[in-house]
Amino acid sequence: MLIGLRQALDHAERANCGIAAINTPTLELLLGAVKVAERYAVPMVLQHAQVHEPVNAIEDIGPVMVEVARRSSAPLVVHVDHGETIEYVERGFAVGFNSAMFDGSRLPYDDNVAQTRAVVELADGYGFGVEGELGIMPGREDGVESTGTADEALYTRPDDAAAFVAATGVTALACSFGTVHGLYKAEPKINYELIGELRRAGGVPVVMHGGSGLSCDEYRASIDQGVRKINYYTYADKAALEAARTLLTEKPDTYVFSDLTVAAQAAITADLDALVRCLYRVF
Ligand SMILES: [Zn+2]
Repeated sequence: MLIGLRQALDHAERANCGIAAINTPTLELLLGAVKVAERYAVPMVLQHAQVHEPVNAIEDIGPVMVEVARRSSAPLVVHVDHGETIEYVERGFAVGFNSAMFDGSRLPYDDNVAQTRAVVELADGYGFGVEGELGIMPGREDGVESTGTADEALYTRPDDAAAFVAATGVTALACSFGTVHGLYKAEPKINYELIGELRRAGGVPVVMHGGSGLSCDEYRASIDQGVRKINYYTYADKAALEAARTLLTEKPDTYVFSDLTVAAQAAITADLDALVRCLYRVF
């Protein structure tokens, strides 16, 4: 079933858990994610990032995401991830997405406020929630361009978070506090104290981007400080690639591509199962 971003975040507040927000540019990721959400009957965010347009366009994979979410027994949000223009957010809403992130974090502060505010006004017309971003996290959702380490000078400042939330009316705020997109090249160092300060100053749930590759203890300590949505993609897709590679190595006579998609989906499901057990504190 479809639920809104606010409902998902409210659930996370009550249960002191983090909502898994999974990028699903392929059918294997989509069906693997939904299978795990149904297995544990937990809310989840299915999201499509603008940077994944070369994998599948939102007009192609988006309606599939919406239909799968509607039919599912699990409560699911269908969310535009890292929309870089208001037009891209509109493309998501046009195919049935009911939530969006606008990423103006690389714009000058005043432009980020103005454009995020415009997306909030658009979403308000539908009753949808909006995630904004303040502070810079290295890398992009597709794993390229990442230096693999975070720069403390680019961390989100609590005073800025308070002003930004007040000026834009966002439902949740993606902040920079030590995580990076893509693969980690050095041990991640998360500033937990800063997460707590950002949660209190902004007054809205904090979103963690670059959630792949952390330990369960790191996720839970972040959740305890106010992280309520955890974006996750790279390691699930990496698990899929490794499963496909193993299949080709062990069975070199494999002669149809579909066998790889079956192996990939099983690996994604196993990876996300472990993530969900951690984030939702399934014991
Ligand atoms: Zn991100």
